Amino acid sequence: MKRGKPITRFEELTPGFWREVALEPGGELIARCFACGTCTAACPVHAVDTRYNPRQLVHMILLGMRERVLSSDFIWLCSGCYTCADRCPQGVRVTDIMTAVKNIAAREGYLHPTFRQQAELVGRFGRLYEVEDFDNKKRQRLGLPPVKKTFPEVQEIFRMTGMGKYTEAAEANQP
Ligand code: SF4
Ligand code: SF4
Repeated sequence: MKRGKPITRFEELTPGFWREVALEPGGELIARCFACGTCTAACPVHAVDTRYNPRQLVHMILLGMRERVLSSDFIWLCSGCYTCADRCPQGVRVTDIMTAVKNIAAREGYLHPTFRQQAELVGRFGRLYEVEDFDNKKRQRLGLPPVKKTFPEVQEIFRMTGMGKYTEAAEANQP
């Protein structure tokens, strides 16, 4: 019988990856997972796109598939609704695990392009879109006060948290 392509190779695994996730805020309870699949069955994102599978992602972390998980587009699809955390019989907070994994991925330069662009816009304008003179003129006509075009305090938060280095690392990582 012809063998299919292996899903992963032993030499590509990082066995301690689950510990790395467990040490990240939100990842502490990952080792409790017994792969029942309740999280996946309850997940609204999975209901729309079955390729997003929280049980599978948790299992991949436990197996040590570090690069595959961190470079995956799927970790960015979690909507943070906490349905899985409410339903998990083991009390595993998959939502928080996804956040923990996304934080590691961002540090390693895998911030998803969509989130990178959002972060850049918020860093530049303090919001997700640029306010133009045209917008403020319309507001004036309606008797509304003008809105600020930029928020230096948000730029200061970006500077203090080093957020800029995450977006730059992600940009350098783009193909
Ligand atoms: S519901 Fe909980 S125990 Fe079951 S697969 Fe999901 S995380 Fe693991
Ligand atoms: S928090 Fe994320 S993984 Fe959990 S049910 Fe909601 S979308 Fe799915």
